[in-house]
Amino acid sequence: MKTKIVIVGGVAGGATAAARARRISEEAEITVVERGPYVSYANCGLPYFISRDIEKRSELLLQTPEGFDARYGVRVLLETEAIEIDRLGKKVLVRGKGGESWLAYDKLILAQGGNPITPSMPGADAPYVFKLWTVPDMDRMHAYIEKDKPRTAVVVGGGFIGLEMAEALKKRGLATTVVELLPSVMATMDPEFGHQVASVLEANGVKVLTGVKVESVADSTVVLGDGRRLPADLVLFSVGVRPELTLARKAGLEIGSTGGLVVDDHLRTADPDIYAAGDMLEILHKVSGRRVRVPLAGPANRQGRIAASNALGLAMRYQGALGTSAVKIFEATAAATGLSERSAREAGFAVGVAVIYKGHHAGYYPGAEELSLKLIYDKKTARLLGAQAFGPAGVDKRIDVLATALAGKLTLHDLAELDLAYAPPYSTANDPINLAAFIGINDLSGFSPLVTAAELKAELATPKAPLVLDVRTLGEYEASHLAGAMHLPVDDLRFELDRLPKDRRIVVHCRSGFRAHLAVRILKQHGFTDVANVTGGHMSMVAEGGFNWET
Ligand SMILES: Cc1cc2nc3c(=O)[nH]c(=O)nc-3n(C[C@H](O)[C@H](O)[C@H](O)COP(=O)(O)OP(=O)(O)OC[C@H]3O[C@@H](n4cnc5c(N)ncnc54)[C@H](O)[C@@H]3O)c2cc1C
Repeated sequence: MKTKIVIVGGVAGGATAAARARRISEEAEITVVERGPYVSYANCGLPYFISRDIEKRSELLLQTPEGFDARYGVRVLLETEAIEIDRLGKKVLVRGKGGESWLAYDKLILAQGGNPITPSMPGADAPYVFKLWTVPDMDRMHAYIEKDKPRTAVVVGGGFIGLEMAEALKKRGLATTVVELLPSVMATMDPEFGHQVASVLEANGVKVLTGVKVESVADSTVVLGDGRRLPADLVLFSVGVRPELTLARKAGLEIGSTGGLVVDDHLRTADPDIYAAGDMLEILHKVSGRRVRVPLAGPANRQGRIAASNALGLAMRYQGALGTSAVKIFEATAAATGLSERSAREAGFAVGVAVIYKGHHAGYYPGAEELSLKLIYDKKTARLLGAQAFGPAGVDKRIDVLATALAGKLTLHDLAELDLAYAPPYSTANDPINLAAFIGINDLSGFSPLVTAAELKAELATPKAPLVLDVRTLGEYEASHLAGAMHLPVDDLRFELDRLPKDRRIVVHCRSGFRAHLAVRILKQHGFTDVANVTGGHMSMVAEGGFNWET
């Protein structure tokens, strides 16, 4: 008997599920129901068409119904919406150009993704207000830019799509401002990375306003909560995604506390004949073990593959996601995997943090670029919990190595020993990952304790504020130093030890952490017991913000 598979949603998760189903069974009758006018298109590529990095629109359209039929024998119904599931009768009601009809299924796969949130505010429906989620959204914006020649743009929301679009609009010649409600952009990463991202945007002429709300849109102007008015011939809302759950809710399938559809580790819903994949799901976070939503293309594709396999009788387990992601910000890349420092704390871990600023390859080989790398680890077990990185080069490969390390539940000790490829054009003999692990291990053993810039800021606000010792050169100190910091270059430290108090906590910093580490070791060996190094040094303090600098 032919198994009837119906798949609702024909983009990342759905199209993958359809192709996989056919690879498993030549017999199955596979139908994809897609409410939009395209199947299997590259939604991740949409910003790069607006920027004109991708010139040909057709590059984004990965399949057609005819192509799907020819290669996979999959029937694709475009501009057809699934509007009801009859679970007992095992059929789906669909509405298309020809009216409504029922499609019978043996196994149903839901891959309906999500919808971008449109804030309800005055002016949100103005003709120059856009969202970017589908090919028609992209076409509409592209046509508007070509025809109406807008000169100013406001992007509301500083998440990865908003930032990709800010870059795209800037490249199209629009004076662009990003407005973000939270204190920093790229809020999935820790704030110091948000600040680094914002600096690169600003350096490329994109204005970034954080900690402020958009109140309304009127007369090509965006009005902010603090009364400021921004010229905006074009407004893009990019403030998050909500899972598409109308159908699932109506069918009585379980929705979890995160607002996503609940599935088991075989991606089966509460109904044994209905599987699901992609942005609509609530899934397990591989590190925290918590239920989370990870609306990203990688997980959606892999879940589509697993859902189809299980619908056809294989037994594939989905192990959960890490939320590994990367975003290009002009010449830089920001990337992350696993838990951020903030989410690790929220998950109850005893969080340690090691930050390093280091060339992405040997400094003596031309073209070395500085990257910042942060490891987040569990102080009790030394297990890696997450990592974040930023810089013009070498960021994605470090984050991918660290995503693999997270999947393998590696510790700092494992990372310190990782045997990574090295030649001067590619890395340093100790890769930044090795070095960051050394730093973390030295923290855990007490050999060279660390504080984060945020922790130092909090300590400085208490009555028992530590002495801050700046061990950089005189030139660096004079350019910018912390108000009240004592200056002693690391090379002079051994000769000036009697100037330092032994009964007070000393927090040492340099530019990025290495000289301060040497200083901490000198101090510790001369009887100074309460000493710590600011991980990431002056660079992390500047990125963190909120310190009182004197120049
Ligand atoms: C502009 C943009 C850039 C992105 N960039 C990245 C990136 O760089 N990296 C990354 O990892 N992720 C990125 N994403 C996110 C990624 O595209 C999504 O995570 C992924 O597409 C989710 O796959 P999905 O199958 O769950 O949903 P989708 O790909 O959104 O597909 C769901 C489909 O279901 C259809 N549908 C919904 N309800 C019904 C119904 N009742 N009947 C019929 N059809 C229905 C919808 O029309 C839709 O086409 C980006 C997204 C956008 C919009």
